Amino acid sequence: MTHTGRLHLATQGHTQVLDITDGVARVVAESGVRNGVAVVFVIGSTAGITTTEAEPGLLNHDLKAFFERIAPAGADYAHEATWHDDNGHAHVRAAAVGPSLTVPVVAGRLTLGTWQQIVLLDFDTRPRRREVVVQVVGD
Ligand code: ZN
Repeated sequence: MTHTGRLHLATQGHTQVLDITDGVARVVAESGVRNGVAVVFVIGSTAGITTTEAEPGLLNHDLKAFFERIAPAGADYAHEATWHDDNGHAHVRAAAVGPSLTVPVVAGRLTLGTWQQIVLLDFDTRPRRREVVVQVVGD
């Protein structure tokens, strides 16, 4: 069977990292799927999905510092010349992370580690309303 749920989140951008594990787990629970996969996908090209340990050091500091090193906000981006906007770094960061994650579902539960949470990273330069699609496929 296949079950599709959606999470709606108000975000602040600027590499905000939000723990969305509970929302994904809720969709898995309501799906009734015992064994299969959950696909977690964010709509949009300035956000990404991955896993990390959801503790304040990583969420509020370390990941921001990492992305600032690999794709600085103040660097020159051809994208910004195209659209006269300011979020070239947000698109590059989102492309590097990717928009989706697949998590095996076993016995009705996400097979995440104790220190492994599912996070949405919003790299854009303004507040956004984000939609995350969670599709659970299995039996
Ligand atoms: Zn842009």
